[in-house]
Amino acid sequence: MSSTLAKQAADRFGIALTPQQVGQFDQYAAILAEWNAHTNLTAITDAESVQVRHFLDSLSIAQAVPMTTGLRLIDVGTGAGFPGLPLLIAFPHIQVTLLEATGKKIAFLDHVIAELGLTGASTLHARAEEAGHMPDQRATYDVVLARAVARLPALVEYLLPLAKIGGCCVAMKGSTAAEEVRDAARAIDLLGGRFNRIGVVELPGVEDTHHLVIVDKVAHSPRTYPRNPGTPTRKPII
Ligand code: SAM
Repeated sequence: MSSTLAKQAADRFGIALTPQQVGQFDQYAAILAEWNAHTNLTAITDAESVQVRHFLDSLSIAQAVPMTTGLRLIDVGTGAGFPGLPLLIAFPHIQVTLLEATGKKIAFLDHVIAELGLTGASTLHARAEEAGHMPDQRATYDVVLARAVARLPALVEYLLPLAKIGGCCVAMKGSTAAEEVRDAARAIDLLGGRFNRIGVVELPGVEDTHHLVIVDKVAHSPRTYPRNPGTPTRKPII
């Protein structure tokens, strides 16, 4: 099945996967299916949808951000590892932190990382609102990613404090991308961001267009942000 993924990744995003990497994607899919039978990790279960909606969709990030050697990347609210883990499999020379608030998902991710022998990955069991104040996390990342975690006005409060100046944040969004960017204008400005662009992603057999909202980090985030856990979503900056 992942040989199809290899062709799609090459055709759509110019990503060349080796047979070893294809094998790692197959292993990842098998462990996901096995764990998902007893742990609620993903609603997407059929093999082809996992390839396209999880793996290929995650790899679309490479369209927006060059995956250069040594790049430091964090995936906020990664769940079962999307988009961070497929990016690390495809680009093993980057450093990926998988941030997730739910312990059982961290246990799954640690297991996948060990089974696949991925050396560039670490997991962080925390909320984004806490991680944004940790000295070894705050303002240390070149790229900060999130898919399906929160609306953009709250999401940028999770993401921007983690990015270093000169780095960027990428939020994976559906049809509401432009509207969310409008709503998040004040939050982006306040937190030291500058809207860059919205990229369009089309996936084979998927009708709805996916969007990559790219926000550059151009100034320090004020020290009082992120606010306490729960506050960004309850009272988004508007
Ligand atoms: N990004 C994954 C994906 O696209 O498949 C998971 C999406 S899932 C809908 C949202 C995930 O974000 C959940 O696993 C949840 O525990 C995590 N999450 C939500 N708010 C969070 C926060 N403030 N800090 C850390 N993780 C959070």
